[in-house]
Amino acid sequence: MTVAPAPSVHLDDTFARELPELALPWQADQAPDPRLLVLDDALAVELGLDPDWLRSDEGVRLLVGTAVPDGATPVAQAYAGHQFGWYSPRLGDGRALLLGELRGPDGRPRDLHLKGSGRTPFSRGGDGLAVVGPMLREVVVSRAMHALDIPTTRSLAVVATGRPVRRETVQPGAVLARVAASHLRVGTFQYTRATGDVDLLRRLADHAIARHHPDAAQAEQPYLALFEAVVAAQAELVARWMLVGFVHGVMNTDNTTISGETIDYGPCAFLDAFDPATVYSSVDEGGRYAYGNQPAAVEWNLARFAEALLPLLHDDQEQAVALAVAALGGFRPRYDEAWAAGMRAKLGLPEGLDDGVVAALADDWLTLLRNDRVDLTSSFRALGAAARGDVDRARNLFLDLAGFDAWVQRWRAAGPDPERMDRANPVYVPRNHLVEEALTAATDGDLAPLHRLLEVLARPFDERPGLERYAAPGPAGPYRTFCGT
Ligand code: AMP
Ligand code: MG
Repeated sequence: MTVAPAPSVHLDDTFARELPELALPWQADQAPDPRLLVLDDALAVELGLDPDWLRSDEGVRLLVGTAVPDGATPVAQAYAGHQFGWYSPRLGDGRALLLGELRGPDGRPRDLHLKGSGRTPFSRGGDGLAVVGPMLREVVVSRAMHALDIPTTRSLAVVATGRPVRRETVQPGAVLARVAASHLRVGTFQYTRATGDVDLLRRLADHAIARHHPDAAQAEQPYLALFEAVVAAQAELVARWMLVGFVHGVMNTDNTTISGETIDYGPCAFLDAFDPATVYSSVDEGGRYAYGNQPAAVEWNLARFAEALLPLLHDDQEQAVALAVAALGGFRPRYDEAWAAGMRAKLGLPEGLDDGVVAALADDWLTLLRNDRVDLTSSFRALGAAARGDVDRARNLFLDLAGFDAWVQRWRAAGPDPERMDRANPVYVPRNHLVEEALTAATDGDLAPLHRLLEVLARPFDERPGLERYAAPGPAGPYRTFCGT
């Protein structure tokens, strides 16, 4: 059914037109009783959409996909992917739809995409639906990531559909309206490569270059330059995750973007106690995507991307492999550099200080945190206080006082800058117990804790009186997240 929304909303169908082999025209299911739960007003404005209109009946129908503008072509996108190391040749949007691309005042195209909009030809055994709790989790964590200035897909809105959805219990159904630089994934390239159609692969790569890495078009070897650009973007992204203690939880190749944005907030969580072996996802039994394994997991995914690109890199397979291997070799140095620069800022150390000294201070600090299972986020903020002379706040977090004192003495000798530390170290991150509390209340109909949490997370570096409970570590003990819901 089509009820024309406000004439000002224009959705391009560039992906659907340029890559029809990867785009199945499809429609969203009806929502029996749609009710808007959250809307990101600032994001709406960035996209050139009127938040008041989005709140209207017509606006909400756009947000659940039941009324799309004339000329738009909603599609389910095809992709493949390695999930926990196992290759699935056909995943695709089993519960999602790309409504089209929006261009805001900045002229940048961005996907408007729905999650939980009903079954598609890619649904396999799934019901095509999503439920309120997990969709609001994506809102909370993506909003926090954006406020932390970490590249991420955004959450424009969540609409409760009024349809009960069967999970372990019956839950209220919801549709998330997600905004992304694009939904091109490593898995999109894997799917395309597996078709054996090199012309299609070239068109996909050209589309990705134009959209995300336009400089690559000028390079001597544009497809190699595309690969290098994605390697760089992903190396920097995962370094940012590591610096704030973000654990993605399901780093499959279909969840690794070509844009370098974080995507798919399923079983994700933020570290409390610092421990590289931390795993939150209930399905990650082997710890493949443990906090400390994340750089290696991204690198592995990029190797799968390289394999998919091989026919474009060189006519001779061996030479193509040699080019890919050399380019992938750029991942580690790029990651190390981004991580080291981030740690230098987090520890407040001056730019002139020798890299080796910074690295030793950073490594030794993290060893202290790990040995005493100290909360990552609050430890850096407490260290900021130590740079101002209040050492006890940090010291009280440790059992190994001799180790702490010796380290602090070395660190203070380097002249840490507390202002710089406060700009680099968040006070507020979406702590697991706070997220659970907000989602549980929202699922039961009380949205107040969610809105309060969103407000706190919107200014993560700005310590505010009265918000102490949002800065404090959660109760100790294992925490589990559940994905695919
Ligand atoms: P994700 O875990 O969200 O990255 O999804 C992995 C794959 O499973 C994608 O192909 C999804 O479209 C599909 N999928 C996840 N949940 C559902 C569902 N409830 N119904 C149909 N497909 C689903
Ligand atoms: Mg996914």
